[in-house]
Amino acid sequence: MANSRESELHYPLGDALPAPGATLELAPGVRWLRMGLPFALDHINLWLLRDEIDGQAGWTIVDCGVANPATQALWEQVFATELAGLPVLRVIVTHFHPDHIGLAAWLTEKWQCRLWISATDFHLARLASGSTVGMGGHSAAAFFASHGLVDEESLAKIRGRSSYYPSMVPSVPASFRRLMNGLQLQIGGHSWHCITGYGHAPEHISLHCPDLSLLISGDMVLPRISTNVSVVDVEPEADPLTLYLDSIRQMLMLPADTLVLPAHGKPFSGLHARVDQLLEHHDERLADVMQACAAKPCHAAELLDLLFKRKLDLHQTTFAMGESVAHLNALWLQGRLQRRLDADGIYRFSTN
Ligand SMILES: [Zn+2]
Repeated sequence: MANSRESELHYPLGDALPAPGATLELAPGVRWLRMGLPFALDHINLWLLRDEIDGQAGWTIVDCGVANPATQALWEQVFATELAGLPVLRVIVTHFHPDHIGLAAWLTEKWQCRLWISATDFHLARLASGSTVGMGGHSAAAFFASHGLVDEESLAKIRGRSSYYPSMVPSVPASFRRLMNGLQLQIGGHSWHCITGYGHAPEHISLHCPDLSLLISGDMVLPRISTNVSVVDVEPEADPLTLYLDSIRQMLMLPADTLVLPAHGKPFSGLHARVDQLLEHHDERLADVMQACAAKPCHAAELLDLLFKRKLDLHQTTFAMGESVAHLNALWLQGRLQRRLDADGIYRFSTN
């Protein structure tokens, strides 16, 4: 969902973007690069941090891009021109989504270095890379159907999309080093604090550097779009929206002047304003859902127009369905809505 209050945020670099295969320095030893993505969301931001590990000078990479030849070619260009002849010493991944972990196996193999990631996201990436869990296939189609997506053409496509995750994450490193909430990493002479966030991925790690007043927010706080918060078929009764809102409320403890380095969009200041906007956005959506379900019992699919107010392609529809269920589950699990399984096999939610 686009941010109608984006003007409350400040972009200190204006419209400057790193050229493909090149970097922009944001602070001493902190570099920004962008890679393309094969989605409506057409880019991801990745970060290079000047580092030293075991007495060896080099770089830490944060997030990888999807596994495809174009992204690999851009990385090769970065290695040739942007690393001052130094090696990559480690690869940090904020969470298991394909645009973040896709090339982790290739990068760690190439540089013979370790992947650092939360344990939950590591294991899920390993599982998803080798199967279809939560990413499409029959169980996803059945889950969407139980929430009112009954259009047979869409369901057939979802059933057929079982290799979606492995196509962008063909492999995941066999070993990793575990990131956890509160862990402090020494990177380039600065301490970076791991902050766990929930609701977008099982155990998303953001990195905050108090010295430099920087937050690598991953997908937890984005300037222009709201973070996807979805219920998926492997955990159909989950309440990721409440988890997400609790997680971003914690971000209000960070200094207001923190420069946020998001995975999508441009580096911005205005962290507190952005968190307030997101809290308000979801409050409004929850109120809309309550109102609709008070008028008549509703399933997730019929709330898509209300929640998204635009035409969605299939990829967007699956994300949107997950988000719609997330809003319904939050209200249901808080006891504000009742859930009923009707004779047609569809869950409907109502206020009584
Ligand atoms: Zn993500």
